[in-house]
Formats: sequence, C-alpha cells, structure tokens
Amino acid sequence: MDFFNKVGSSISNKSKDVAKKAKELAGISSLNSQINTQEEIINKICLEIGKTVYEKRDAFSDPELEEKYTAASNAHAEIARLKSKIIFVKGAKQCPGCGNEVSLTSAFCPDCGTAVPTPEPEPQIEDIVIPPDSIIYYPNEPN
Ligand SMILES: [Zn+2]
Repeated sequence: MDFFNKVGSSISNKSKDVAKKAKELAGISSLNSQINTQEEIINKICLEIGKTVYEKRDAFSDPELEEKYTAASNAHAEIARLKSKIIFVKGAKQCPGCGNEVSLTSAFCPDCGTAVPTPEPEPQIEDIVIPPDSIIYYPNEPN
C-alpha cells in the first residue's frame, strides 16, 4: 500500500511539474509576443523618422547617410520612370506638371491644370523618304 501511495504521489508530482512547465512556457510566449509588438512599434517609428530625415536631407546633410540618400533618390527616379512607362503602355499622355496620367483627348491636366501637348505620332516607315541619289551601305555583305 505504501508503494502505491508513493507511485501515486510521484505521478501527481510529475503532472504538477508538467502543468507548471506548460504555464511557464505560455507566460514566456506571451512576453515574447509583447516584445514583438514593441519591436514593431519601434520599427514603424524609425521608418517614419527615416522618411522625415530623407525628406529633409538637404537640412540633415550627413556623409554617413549620403549613400543611402542617393540610393533612395535613385529608387524614386526609377518609380517615376516606371510610372511613365505604364502611362505610355496604356496609350495615354503624362502631365509635364504633376506627372499624372492624362487622356489623349484632354488638352489640360485635370489634376493641376497644366497644358498637356499631344505627342507627335511616331514617324511611319512609309514617311521616311530616301533620296534617289543616296548610297546605301549594307553592313556584313561581301563587296
Ligand atoms: Zn498635372
């Protein structure tokens, strides 16, 4: 009888240990989750600080940041180029004032009012006139 009591008590102690360990792990998991939340807040704020500093980079000239300023400016220029390309692919015009898309039929930008000239059509092959006395060289052809 004493033996069974000991075994029973040992099992109950083991399950208490397991329960304690599980509670401990749940507590750590909750604390880690709270740390992650605070880290996300820091990252968001630092991103906003970085954007503000970038926008005021002329006032915050810093040799340590110069390379990053240039990289960010290049990325902005590339975005502008890609947006122009999208407008071109869609067959629309781009406002020279604000860069927004303007339909081919509009003479003025609906957003900023800048006059948007209609681009000259690309010259067609038929439009190119070769004078009759021209000498035409064909590269890579044997003489
Ligand atoms: Zn505009």
